[in-house]
Amino acid sequence: MRGSSLDLGKVVIVGYGVSGQAAHQALEDLGSEVIVIEDSGNSTLRELAKSHSALGVFRSEEIRQALDANWPALVVVSPGVRPSHIAFRYFNAPVISELELGWRMTDLSVVAITGTNGKTTVTSLVSAMLNQSSLNSTPCGNYGTPLVSLAGVQGWAVVEASSFQLSTISEFAPNVAAIVNVTPDHLDWHGGFQKYLEAKLRILENLGPDSFGIMPFDFAWRPTRGTFHTFTFGSGSGDFFASDTELISPIGVIAAKSDLKKALPHDILNFLAASACAVSAGASLDAIGYACSEFAGLEHRMEVACEFRGMRFINDSKATTPASVVAGLSGLGRCVLIAGGRNKGLDFEPLLSQWEKLAGVVVIGESADELAGLFAGVLDSSKIVRAASMAEAVRSAYALSDKVCDVILSPGATSFDWYSGYEQRGLDFKDCVRGLVNSFEG
Ligand code: ADP
Repeated sequence: MRGSSLDLGKVVIVGYGVSGQAAHQALEDLGSEVIVIEDSGNSTLRELAKSHSALGVFRSEEIRQALDANWPALVVVSPGVRPSHIAFRYFNAPVISELELGWRMTDLSVVAITGTNGKTTVTSLVSAMLNQSSLNSTPCGNYGTPLVSLAGVQGWAVVEASSFQLSTISEFAPNVAAIVNVTPDHLDWHGGFQKYLEAKLRILENLGPDSFGIMPFDFAWRPTRGTFHTFTFGSGSGDFFASDTELISPIGVIAAKSDLKKALPHDILNFLAASACAVSAGASLDAIGYACSEFAGLEHRMEVACEFRGMRFINDSKATTPASVVAGLSGLGRCVLIAGGRNKGLDFEPLLSQWEKLAGVVVIGESADELAGLFAGVLDSSKIVRAASMAEAVRSAYALSDKVCDVILSPGATSFDWYSGYEQRGLDFKDCVRGLVNSFEG
């Protein structure tokens, strides 16, 4: 393990979700005494924490009296903990994310991937490319398995790194670091775009002379050490690019576009970004091409939920930013958009770039009024419909489609006004589509 310099005697873990629990397990295996701070009212979570924690489970407001006797050597914060949390200020001890802890507690080679949209997709592609090249790899980080739970595993970790986790790194130094794109997101959490961008750029901060940085060709930042590769949709610029017919890398043709199962502009960019990571990590061109052509997409991301009488119902529930909605819509012809949810403080205006292809818009959730107001400037009022449930939204979208064009759920906002997460929202959409189709077939 890289972190022999870490004092792991008494450790405070802030947040007891998936990554907090994984950090706890790994620290306990090394003999640390752990104190948990968990504010959630979820009694199962609190009981779980209590049953494991040698030094107790506390709420933030109990921090003073509870911890004075147990002054920690290290504080590990979970990704959802805000920078304003008292844990960042209270202790005279290093405060690190689970990502940083994972980095120090493993010996894996690391490809780290960040970006506003496309992180999960690129992470899954890179891992498939490395495994296809017999370079044993595990996708992890925001992707599901926390990096810290890979202590003792050999090979490569392909880490999906969020801006939250990157904002508290210190020594995290991946062998390959990729920024897929950066557009406004999580501004309320970071306190503005500049801070969000700075957090993303930290992925490049500790790159060494033998490491690789991967970024879009027109991105203004470059790593100061190591080699960098750029990727671009257009032909002729960037080391990894797409011609009219092929995906091309500096070591040869990756794949013919006609062999790809997914070929929207943002799919192509993701293939190129992933290929640049995989080439840097030493994967073979054949393996990379194979992974691109086999990739059939991930659930809740431009997923064709159902084809019915020539029209498609597309589940893009994971599109929680306006930029990801635009990316999805730009690959479609005429369609009806179901959008809305809890706005993360983002400007919806980029959606207007797609208005000409919209046969109608169904607005849902907390941002329904804001979206209806936005589209009122470009669409006839009869083409803007409010819905109070997903079932109603699907029925209204079907009516607006005139039964000829596609219907897409691409919210541009989070799901937390109606659901526990984007997965639940996407599953509800698919259920409602199935219900609608059955009502015609039954
Ligand atoms: P993340 O993990 O960054 O949220 P995902 O791969 O889960 O990214 O995709 C999230 C949403 O962004 C989906 O709607 C997807 O269609 C869209 N998307 C994926 N890749 C890109 C990209 N390169 N540019 C813009 N949007 C993208």
